Amino acid sequence: MPVRHHVTARVIDGRALGAIIEKGLTDEAKAMEKKGRAPHLVVVIVGDDAASHVYVRNKQRACERIGIKSTRHDLPSTSNPSDLIDLVDNLNKDEGVDGILVQSPLPDGFDEISITEMIDPEKDVDGFHPVNLGRIVTGKVDGLLPCTPSAVIHMLESTGERLAGKKALVVGRSRIVGMPTALLLAQRGVDATVTISHSQSQDLQGLCLDSDIIVAAVGRPGMIKSDWVKKDAIVIDVGINRIEVDGASKLVGDVEKEASDRASWVTPVPGGVGPMTIAMLMRNTIKAAIDRV
Ligand code: NAP
Repeated sequence: MPVRHHVTARVIDGRALGAIIEKGLTDEAKAMEKKGRAPHLVVVIVGDDAASHVYVRNKQRACERIGIKSTRHDLPSTSNPSDLIDLVDNLNKDEGVDGILVQSPLPDGFDEISITEMIDPEKDVDGFHPVNLGRIVTGKVDGLLPCTPSAVIHMLESTGERLAGKKALVVGRSRIVGMPTALLLAQRGVDATVTISHSQSQDLQGLCLDSDIIVAAVGRPGMIKSDWVKKDAIVIDVGINRIEVDGASKLVGDVEKEASDRASWVTPVPGGVGPMTIAMLMRNTIKAAIDRV
């Protein structure tokens, strides 16, 4: 009788990988403190978006674990864009501040892109300033890289699989996730052959089935069906979607869970790209502090 092999993908554990990175950063933060002062991250949050408050708390907790000083500025949702502009201006000038992060999304009436462009590129620990994003296009990847895209690359590299020449599909082309992830995948050294898809793309199923690597960054629960995943593909699920299951709220990704029956590696949601993104933010903060000494 033939034996049926039921293969389950290996899991790229973002919490475990993040903890390893944090450990190294803790030593660097200690060394900096010994020399003068601890690295300092300032997080600005405007309004009362519940998810943003959770993200900011998680970032501050990571700072505490590592020994990075963190300061938080809460602006009420009734504040004017000029209040935020003045605050960012002061933080840019403050010699005691190494990293500035303005939590997204900003309330209506705030122009997120122009605020991002105001932040001193050397303190832009989110890596969203056009100078930092533009460096990637020129092939410079030793600067402040956007956190989620660099988390994706780190997680892919952690598998030990050869990425060079692999067909990588990035689903989503946002300024902060999809587009920079595609650029990093195509960099010399990573060397994937990259396709970017978006809401106007045709035959997403066919594109997925043709890909050795799928990075899903859409924000739609389970939109990538498990049978769209090529056998032994690597699936990185960036999506974070809150859904209701039997009256309880639950976080799920953009890829159906059953994809792990076909993929060689998958990332969990939660516990995948999320914690690694925070680790990359911490790494950027230490880097910004070291570069400014
Ligand atoms: P976004 O700005 O809304 O971008 C979503 C992208 O998905 C857009 O490029 C959009 O295409 C594309 N899209 C929409 N429908 C599609 C379809 N049917 N087929 C193919 N592409 C489609 O979102 P984002 O900021 O990039 O975030 C994406 C997801 O990642 C969200 O769930 C977010 O919560 C999550 N996220 C997670 C982390 C983390 O740390 N894990 C960090 C950031 C974001 P168009 O450009 O044509 O509209």
